[in-house]
Amino acid sequence: MSKGNIGVTSDNIFPVIKKFLYSDHEIFLRELVSNAVDATQKLKTLASVGEYKGELGDLTVRVSINKKKGTLTISDRGIGMTADEIDKYINQIAFSGAEEFLEKYKNDAQAIIGHFGLGFYSSFMVSKQVEIFTQSHKEEAQAQHWSCDGSPEFNLEDTIKADRGTDIVLHIDDDNKDFLEESKIQELLTKYCKFLPIEIAFGKKKEWKDGKNEETDQDNIINNTNPAWTRKPADLKDEDYDAFYRELNPMSEDPLFHIHLNVDYPFNLTGILYFPKIKNNIDMQRNKIQLYCNQVYVTDHVENIVPEYLTLLHGVIDSPDIPLNVSRSYLQSDGNVKKISNHITKKVADRLQEIFKTDRLQFEEKWDNLKIFIQYGMLSDEKFYERGEKFALLKNIDGKYFTFDEYKTLVGENQKDKNGDVIYLYANNADEQFSYIQHAKDKGYDVLIMDGQLDVHVVSQLEQKFEKTRFVRVDSDVIDKIIQKDDDNKVTLTNDQRDALISVFESQVPATEKTNFIITFEHLAPTANPVFVTQNEFMRRMKEMSALQGGMMSFYGEMPDSYNFVVNTAHPVIEKLLADEEAACEQEITPILDELAIAESKKTALKENHKGKKEEEIPAVEKAQVEELEKQIQELTDTKKTILKSFADKNKQVRQLIDLALLANNMLKGEALANFVKRSVELL
Ligand code: ADP
Repeated sequence: MSKGNIGVTSDNIFPVIKKFLYSDHEIFLRELVSNAVDATQKLKTLASVGEYKGELGDLTVRVSINKKKGTLTISDRGIGMTADEIDKYINQIAFSGAEEFLEKYKNDAQAIIGHFGLGFYSSFMVSKQVEIFTQSHKEEAQAQHWSCDGSPEFNLEDTIKADRGTDIVLHIDDDNKDFLEESKIQELLTKYCKFLPIEIAFGKKKEWKDGKNEETDQDNIINNTNPAWTRKPADLKDEDYDAFYRELNPMSEDPLFHIHLNVDYPFNLTGILYFPKIKNNIDMQRNKIQLYCNQVYVTDHVENIVPEYLTLLHGVIDSPDIPLNVSRSYLQSDGNVKKISNHITKKVADRLQEIFKTDRLQFEEKWDNLKIFIQYGMLSDEKFYERGEKFALLKNIDGKYFTFDEYKTLVGENQKDKNGDVIYLYANNADEQFSYIQHAKDKGYDVLIMDGQLDVHVVSQLEQKFEKTRFVRVDSDVIDKIIQKDDDNKVTLTNDQRDALISVFESQVPATEKTNFIITFEHLAPTANPVFVTQNEFMRRMKEMSALQGGMMSFYGEMPDSYNFVVNTAHPVIEKLLADEEAACEQEITPILDELAIAESKKTALKENHKGKKEEEIPAVEKAQVEELEKQIQELTDTKKTILKSFADKNKQVRQLIDLALLANNMLKGEALANFVKRSVELL
C-alpha cells in the first residue's frame, strides 16, 4: 500500500474544480464513460494486432447506481491499469500556472477540462470520494485499488479483482444526490453517450407486466454504436437517413434533404446535415446540429463552426479536429475551423445544385420549404449567393417556378418601362391584392409571389444585383404608372375641378392617426375601377424593414401609413359625380371662385413688386396687405371646402366609392364595414 500526494503544483485543485466547473458538472459522466469506452477500444486494437491474446468476452460498459451506498459505478472490461500506470496517468497531473489559467477560463469548463486532461478528475465535481478498482490486461499484473477523498492525498493498494478492466466508484456527495436518480443518469447517458461506439448498459430493460413495470433480464443498452454518419454513404438508403433523423429528432416531420459529410483530408470530418421542414419561426429551430468528437457528444452550439445561416440545419457533425479545449472566441480564428466551415458551405451548395440539376421537379416541390435556407445563405454570404443564383427560384402567382435567368427572359422585354428599367411585379398576398394582380395580368404582365419571411430583404438584394431592374408591389400604384410606357398624362380636369374633387373625397376619407390618404388622379380605361387605394413602394418597404429590424429604421416605423387614393377620371361614375357636384354647388361656388381669383391676382401682383427687394425695403402697409389677402384666401378656401363637404356629406355615392376602394384593399373593417353594408342595401 502506498500513500502520496497527487502531483499538482497548486495544492488544492479539487475545491477549484468544484467551484469553477460547477455549472457544467454533469459532464463528469461523459468523461468517465468515454474513458471506459477508450480503454475498451484500446483492448480491441491490441487484440486485433495480436498483442492481446486472451478472450475479449463481453465488452459492455456498465453504469449502475447503488442508492443505499450512495455510489455511482462505471465499469468496463477494457485494458485496465497497472500500479505504474495509475501513478503515471492518474497521480501525475501536469498543472502549471493553474490559477492564472482557471481565472482566464473560469466560465468555460470545457476549456479547462480539455486543456489539463482533467477528464477523470471531473468526477470530484460530484463526489466526496472516488475509488478505482482495476485489473490490467497485462499478464501477471496485480489488481489495484486507488482511492481519494477530494484532498490532494490518495491511497493506492493491491487488491483482488476477478475481472479484467476498471470500475470507477463515485461516492456522490450530499449536494449532488440527483446523480443517484435513475432518470437523471438515463437522461445524461442519452444526451452524452447516445452514439458511443461500445455498448453501454444502464440496468435492465423494463417491461409492462400485469400493470407493473418489471425488469427483464435484457441489458438496457442506451446507445447506438453504429450511427448513420459513421457508415459509408453507399451503404445507406434514404430510409436509413430518415430513420436516423428521427433518432435525433423524435417528434419532427421527415426532413427535405440530407447531406452526408465525409472528409479525411486535410481535416477529419464526418456527419449528416438535414434540411428540416421549417414552418415559421426561424429561431425555434436553431441548436439542432450536434457536435461530436469521435462519437462523444460535445455541444449543440455550433455557431462558431458553421456559418450562421446553416445553424438552421439539423444533424450531426463529428470531428476530432475541432479544438474543443479552447474558448469560443478562439474557435473563429482557428484555421481548421475555418476550413471546416468553408467545406460545409460548399457541400451544402453542391448538394442543392445537384438536386436542382438532376431532379428539378423535386427541387421545385420542396422550394417553398427550402427557400428560407437558401435565401438566408444568399443574403449573408456572398460566396453562397454566387452559388445560389444558379438554382434559387422565383415563384409566380400561378405557382410556376423560374430561375433568375429564366425569369429575366420571361419579363425582360415585356415589362420594360420608358426608361428601360425592367419592372418585376410582385404580390405578398394573393387574396388581398387580387384585383391589382388581375389588372397586371390583363396587361399581359407576370406577377411574382413574395410572401416569405425574408422576401423583403431578398427584393432589396436582387435590385442591387440585377441591372436596371426594380421590384414593385402590384398595389403600389396604378399598373400603367408602375410600368410607365409613355409620358402622356391624359387627365383633363381643370384646376378648379381637381380642387373640387380633392375636397369632396378628402372630406369623406376616414381620418385616423395611423393612416394618411392623398387624393390623386389617373385617366384610365372607363372599365377600370373608379377609385382605388395604392401604397407607395418605397415607404411601404421602409416600414416593413423597420418592423423587421427596428433600431435605425424605427423612424419609418413611427410614420403613419401613407396611401394614395386614386380617382379614375375616365370612369363614368366619376364623370357623373363631377357633373353632380358642379350642378349642386356652382351657384354658391362661382362667386367664391371669382373672389378667390381677384385676391390671388392682387397678391401675385404685390409679390411681383417685392421681388428682389430686401425685407426692410418693403413698406409695412404692403406687408399688411399681403397678410390680409392671405387671410382672405384662406377663408374663401375654407368656405369653398365647407360647401363641397356638405355636398359630399349628402352624396352617398362618395362614401360608397371610398368604401369600395378600401374594401378592395382589405382595409374596411368593423363599424365602417357594417355601415357600408347598410348603405349598400339602401342604395339598392
Ligand atoms: P484523458 O482521458 O483526457 O487522457 P483522463 O484524466 O480522463 O484524461 O484520464 C487519464 C488517463 O487515465 C487516460 O488517458 C487513461 O490512460 C487512464 N484511464 C482513465 N480511465 C481509464 C479506464 N477506465 N481504463 C483504463 N485507463 C483509464
